[in-house]
Amino acid sequence: MIIAPKIKGFLCTTAHPAGCAADVMSQIDQIKDGGPILNVPKRVLVIGASGGYGLATRITSAFGGGAETIGVFFERPALKGRTASPGWYKSAAFTEAAEAAGLYAKNFNGDAFSQAMKDAVIATIKADWGKVDMVVYSLAAPARTLASGETVRSVLKPIGESFSGATIDFNSRELRRVALEPADEAEIAATVQVMGGEDWEDWIGQLKDQGCLAQGCVTTNYTYLGSEVTFPIYYHGTIGRAKEDLDRAAQALSSQLTEVNGHARVIVMKGLLTQAASAIPGMSVYLSLLFKAMKAAGTHEGCLEQVDRLFRTQLFSAGQRCDESGRIRMDDWELKPEIQDYVQSHWGQVTQDNLDELTDFEGYRAAFLNLHGFDFEGVDYLEEQQPDVPMAVQDF
Ligand code: NAD
Repeated sequence: MIIAPKIKGFLCTTAHPAGCAADVMSQIDQIKDGGPILNVPKRVLVIGASGGYGLATRITSAFGGGAETIGVFFERPALKGRTASPGWYKSAAFTEAAEAAGLYAKNFNGDAFSQAMKDAVIATIKADWGKVDMVVYSLAAPARTLASGETVRSVLKPIGESFSGATIDFNSRELRRVALEPADEAEIAATVQVMGGEDWEDWIGQLKDQGCLAQGCVTTNYTYLGSEVTFPIYYHGTIGRAKEDLDRAAQALSSQLTEVNGHARVIVMKGLLTQAASAIPGMSVYLSLLFKAMKAAGTHEGCLEQVDRLFRTQLFSAGQRCDESGRIRMDDWELKPEIQDYVQSHWGQVTQDNLDELTDFEGYRAAFLNLHGFDFEGVDYLEEQQPDVPMAVQDF
């Protein structure tokens, strides 16, 4: 079949297998071009490994550091004429490339919150590696089914006061007002349960109890703080409350990990368009302004560049740049005064007419298409595609 983007709201319901594979291959080439990365742990578990920051971490660990990787993700294979999800195609391409390079890569597809998933991954770590050297928790999930069977859902809402902002329609380029009422206590608690540190602690606790944490084991979790203009919907909102909980969890985990001389780190990454970020109200305007300012300054980075810089200059280096909460800051370029001045002074001025002048909406839109494997140079989008791409996974 010929596969074209089908965009509905902030969702694209199709993905291009050859485009996704081309994306992964070019990220692999980019990491390899930067040369080997020193001190990267050799047995790496990535939870949330099929998109955004998790996939970038898996690629960087394997092709920059020569690591064996286990990836956990929740993706959809192709079914009855529907394409697979982008993360399926990207993980398939990663696995094929890793195996061709002689690098161990195993995949687990299903719910990372579930006990069945944890049991299966831990059994594989025991059988294949004995122990794990690094656990990267990079999950962005809309909901979590608890051990009791109850499903709780995260919400993207402000806390304490209502939020009014704008979002840009991908197809029509229309700016639409978004108004959100503040979350109630139950919604805040549910968001913390889904996106806070509890499940991260559960994974590390179970790995530890099963004797699977290697000496010096490192575990990381990615967070976002953002800019003053996004504080009302992000950092001071429900998702920010969940992210605060990561700081608590990191401290608790670091004390648990002293037994193996390990540590837990929360890492603040920059705002980027990923599957998860595309759902955040107001983010399209912020990121379009941010891309404009950072590209003009020559400091724009994607997920791969962020993780590459993290691995080469921070995570495995003596001179880590941590803030007062012990978090590694990779949002340093995003928060530079000249970048934030640009964003803040134009926030509120963006209209459909000046979109291309004030913002990099075209770059933002291209990033959205790229997420789904579209709009890559060198890919023939008129060529027939076989949507059913096989991948060795254990399903749950
Ligand atoms: P993403 O949507 O690109 O990737 C999310 C990953 O989680 C995918 O691999 C997906 O398959 C997996 N996943 C979701 N639900 C799952 C489940 N129940 N079980 C197993 N796997 C599941 O997201 P992302 O933007 O890369 O986010 C990863 C982390 O980085 C999040 O903690 C996010 O808050 C953080 N972060 C993102 C940004 C940003 O701007 N995108 C900035 C800073 C930090």
